Amino acid sequence: MPRYYTIASSCIVAPKDIKIAISLSSFDTPKQEKRLGLVSALCELMQTVQNMSVRIFAKDSNFDMNNNTPLLMVGPGTGIVPFIAFSDERKHLKNSGSPIAEGHLYFGCRDVDNDFIYRNYLASMVDCGVLAKLNHAFSRSKDGSPKQYVQDLLRKDKSTIERLLRDEQGSLYLCGATKMG
Ligand SMILES: Cc1cc2nc3c(=O)[nH]c(=O)nc-3n(C[C@H](O)[C@H](O)[C@H](O)COP(=O)(O)OP(=O)(O)OC[C@H]3O[C@@H](n4cnc5c(N)ncnc54)[C@H](O)[C@@H]3O)c2cc1C
Repeated sequence: MPRYYTIASSCIVAPKDIKIAISLSSFDTPKQEKRLGLVSALCELMQTVQNMSVRIFAKDSNFDMNNNTPLLMVGPGTGIVPFIAFSDERKHLKNSGSPIAEGHLYFGCRDVDNDFIYRNYLASMVDCGVLAKLNHAFSRSKDGSPKQYVQDLLRKDKSTIERLLRDEQGSLYLCGATKMG
């Protein structure tokens, strides 16, 4: 069975490279045995074993990001991956003198220390103006802070979201596990 991974890089910025980000899947079997996901564990192994090859298939896509209206991106966990590609592309456009519309990102994960992937990258996107704001929620903070999810942040930012989506005709992109519903 194939496993799907979202491309984390822009074909405009890096036409010959494909970046992906894989979260190592771990779970308990019904017999309470600890197991790792087949493909994600194999990918982890590939970092240490030399000359291992796998077959990959890249799907064609005619997706075209609209850079003229505001962008609202919601990505819990590895749901953030496509927005790394979006940000790469928006930075490239900005650096080449094209205007980019306002961009807001909502990221959620369990714990700030272990799960906040692309943390420095995202901070740099705020610094260079590609992201107007980075909003993050942590559901299992070790410091005992109350659980927060991206939907809590969205609720809190209701007026900004109304402005971006209703008044300025922005686009909302949501990426995450299918069990998010
Ligand atoms: C469109 C799409 C995009 C995706 N993008 C990404 C991405 O960018 N990054 C990313 O990390 N993932 C992504 N995924 C998820 C990815 O495709 C894989 O599902 C994920 O990496 C797990 O694969 P695996 O082979 O490691 O785990 P598997 O071995 O397939 O196990 C997956 C799950 O099945 C259950 N399971 C398996 N075997 C048993 C067992 N014996 N007993 C009990 N339960 C069991 C467990 O819940 C386990 O967590 C995406 C999925 C889709 C559909």
